[in-house]
Amino acid sequence: MDLYEHQAKDLFDVHGVAVPLGAVADTAEEAASVAAGIGGPVVVKAQVKTGGRGKAGGVKLAVDPTDAQAKAGAILGMDIKGHTVHRVLVVEASQIAEEYYFSFLLDRSNRTFLAMASAEGGMEIEQLAVERPEALAKVPIDAIAGVDKAKAAEIVAEAKLPAEVADQAADVIVKLWETFVSEDATLVEVNPLVRTAGGEVVALDGKVTLDENAAFRHPGHADLVDQRTEDPLEAKAKAKDLNYVKLDGQVGIIGNGAGLVMSTLDVVAYAGENHGGVKPANFLDIGGGASADVMAAGLDVILGDPDVKSVFVNVFGGITACDAVANGIVEALKILGFSATKPLVVRLDGNNVEEGRRILNEANHPLITQVDTMDNAADKAAELAAAGA
Ligand code: GDP
Ligand code: MN
Repeated sequence: MDLYEHQAKDLFDVHGVAVPLGAVADTAEEAASVAAGIGGPVVVKAQVKTGGRGKAGGVKLAVDPTDAQAKAGAILGMDIKGHTVHRVLVVEASQIAEEYYFSFLLDRSNRTFLAMASAEGGMEIEQLAVERPEALAKVPIDAIAGVDKAKAAEIVAEAKLPAEVADQAADVIVKLWETFVSEDATLVEVNPLVRTAGGEVVALDGKVTLDENAAFRHPGHADLVDQRTEDPLEAKAKAKDLNYVKLDGQVGIIGNGAGLVMSTLDVVAYAGENHGGVKPANFLDIGGGASADVMAAGLDVILGDPDVKSVFVNVFGGITACDAVANGIVEALKILGFSATKPLVVRLDGNNVEEGRRILNEANHPLITQVDTMDNAADKAAELAAAGA
């Protein structure tokens, strides 16, 4: 889960990283009163989960509360790369002497963590990495050893941060590592990390991605979810404890096991090329126990997606055998009743497959088509989706 800048900075603050004083506002009037509380010039910043807000006109300096109200009025409602601005962060303006770049991230390809740092911050880091890769230090971090002051000093030296901020920057880096570890983040990025005119090292921007697999360890993180921008189908799936990701195609997918569902997405996308380019509409792994309730919950979410024209149920019977799955599908259609309206292609294989297929044949449900192989079932589901589109 990606956080907003203000949420990221709240976490930084908790872990002792200096951030500019400020508060969020949902209206221009609120922005004015936050500015009045701060006193002096402020920066009004669009809160959207995308970078490049500055360039897009979503970060503006305001000299007083009246100005802050005007700037907030201009920024609220703005569209930045497809994200509508519902809220602004109003912070005391900093006098920037220098801008640096810093991040901790999960380096999947090298199976480790990575610190990236540069004395040239502020600009887009992807651009710096391409144009001047030598200016971006990359230091692998051992998960067990972590980052102590000595490691942080090594990162600072590699990044060639100026000597006058070296010690302070190393302290900030240790605290950012504490943030990364104790919040179970997969990304902590500060761009820019600045030296102010007063010589302080401050996180002027913040980006944090939390590892949702660790959510059970952080009950407080649930409050960081923005209901307003959550996909309603994903929210519904989450409420039912389903492992669902909305995609933009027309063939609804249900499978058991993440690997099987992933390969189902591939075969459906491939088959779709022969049927007008239809694509998978979602990822949905119903896991090991394909009970009627779980199947009904999954079908309910998928059938609630107006883009879905057909559904492909692809199950490999293991501990939960095919007969139990077949009964689950039949019961699920009874539970859903008239709300189930789209054709279902079912492919069963594995444990007790004959009994499973017999149960579905016997049920003789008008919406169900059984197909024996995964490739042929994908083709049938794509064909039905194309016909229904
Ligand atoms: P981004 O464009 O989405 O990355 O938003 P940032 O929070 O990084 O802000 C963009 C740029 O605005 C920064 O790189 C700074 O140059 C500038 N900026 C942001 N806050 C301040 C501030 O308090 N004072 C000054 N002088 N510039 C600021
Ligand atoms: Mn930034």
